[in-house]
Amino acid sequence: MKTDVFIAGGGVGGLALAVKLASRGVHVTVVEQLAKKSSAYKGELLQPKTLAILDTLNVLAETEANGHVIDQLRFLEVERQAHDHPNEIQLTELNYSRVASKYDHSLMVPHETTKDILREKGAAYAEHFNYLAGTRFLGFENGMAKVRQKKSIQYIEADVYVGAEGRSSPTREAMNVRVKRRDYNHHFLTVTIPRPSDFTKGKMVTTADQFLGLFPLPDQQVRTVYLIKAGTFKQIKERGLPYLYQAYSELEPELSEGVRAIQDWKAVQLMIPFTYHVDSYYRGNLALIGDAAHTVHPMAGEGMNLAIQDADVLGELLAWCREQGEPFHKHLHYYEDVRKPRVEFLLNISHLSALVYSLPYQWWRNIRRRAMQRMYDDDELHVKQMLNISGLGKWNFTLVDRAIQGSILPARSKKVSDRKQQQFLFSEAEDYPWRTLQKGKV
Ligand SMILES: Cc1cc2nc3c(=O)[nH]c(=O)nc-3n(C[C@H](O)[C@H](O)[C@H](O)COP(=O)(O)OP(=O)(O)OC[C@H]3O[C@@H](n4cnc5c(N)ncnc54)[C@H](O)[C@@H]3O)c2cc1C
Repeated sequence: MKTDVFIAGGGVGGLALAVKLASRGVHVTVVEQLAKKSSAYKGELLQPKTLAILDTLNVLAETEANGHVIDQLRFLEVERQAHDHPNEIQLTELNYSRVASKYDHSLMVPHETTKDILREKGAAYAEHFNYLAGTRFLGFENGMAKVRQKKSIQYIEADVYVGAEGRSSPTREAMNVRVKRRDYNHHFLTVTIPRPSDFTKGKMVTTADQFLGLFPLPDQQVRTVYLIKAGTFKQIKERGLPYLYQAYSELEPELSEGVRAIQDWKAVQLMIPFTYHVDSYYRGNLALIGDAAHTVHPMAGEGMNLAIQDADVLGELLAWCREQGEPFHKHLHYYEDVRKPRVEFLLNISHLSALVYSLPYQWWRNIRRRAMQRMYDDDELHVKQMLNISGLGKWNFTLVDRAIQGSILPARSKKVSDRKQQQFLFSEAEDYPWRTLQKGKV
């Protein structure tokens, strides 16, 4: 079998890439090992840049119709009281509306719904979109992709092979790249439960030693993420579900009914955060996107966004090569040039966000409270944080920023103008730098 671009893995990254390429007349073959939907929890938060990309793929309206808008993140510090409402001691609200873009919110969408929408869009370009479910990519043989569907082995020949297989990636192995991994002192329990209809804001509820993240989904559900010490899941399970009921109820009383919908520990998934980042995104005519290339700590909700953003840049590049009659492999370095530093930047932001909740001490909580309050009081810090996590731009934190956050310097009273902020939004030339090259001069 022959195709222009072979994509191993039909997750959000692989599908977004396939839709973009098929829509531009580049033939893609996606092989996905799963024959049906997965029930595993995965990322659900779509950041503003991802919404902008889904808009260019003409699937934004449908995605919005299936999502719950998050326009604000609330950080609530509380003191837990046994069998009673917690004492609220600090509330900080960070707003997506501080980002100077029409994509001024994020969206919670069930992971499999996002994949369904992308897959259906791909199928609309039937001539260029070949999706093979229940087909496992095994590795390369004689320069071709070797895949297994049921018991039959096939070889697929392509101009470019993209590894979008997620964390365990045969393409990454074939590329022989170096991977730097980092582990954490905490794990998460994650489970979706019912929520009251007026529970609509994204919320992080914390004590000195506890963290409960709450992200409303459509259909009056809420994705919950509860931090535990690494290696303690077994002990927590032994305490029984009432332990979880009590912890949730005392941290967020509005969910005390919803949490009781959990009737079996099987509904609760253990999430072990770790990060890695490959040293190279391409070799010859092989490239990696999404979790095959990097995994971020989930605290900043970036995992699936980075995958879709990788797909956007690589897809644009490969489509441009086709349109210009340029060999694909010759220009793959542009993909790495654009994406690697941005991913490194967000890996770092996610890591710092994780550290903020990693130390279970009162003195650490005091530092965190001050820093959060400063992020709200100082508009430049607020704008930088929201712009950076949105993926729409990059505005580095400076030493002065950190001194303000650490209360060494006073907060600035000046508001950041949209004009100033726009200097830090990614321009088309920054997203797709090869477009300025002229044919024959590359
Ligand atoms: C338990 C868990 C919880 C997470 N929670 C969050 C979160 O809250 N927020 C967030 O933003 N991110 C979260 N993530 C990360 C997020 O899901 C990923 O970053 C995102 O899905 C990456 O997309 P991807 O397309 O690169 O890989 P994946 O979504 O992993 O997709 C890879 C696809 O490739 C298929 N595949 C794998 N190997 C092969 C093969 N050999 N042949 C054929 N097909 C293959 C897989 O079946 C899968 O469908 C979580 C991840 C996990 C594992």
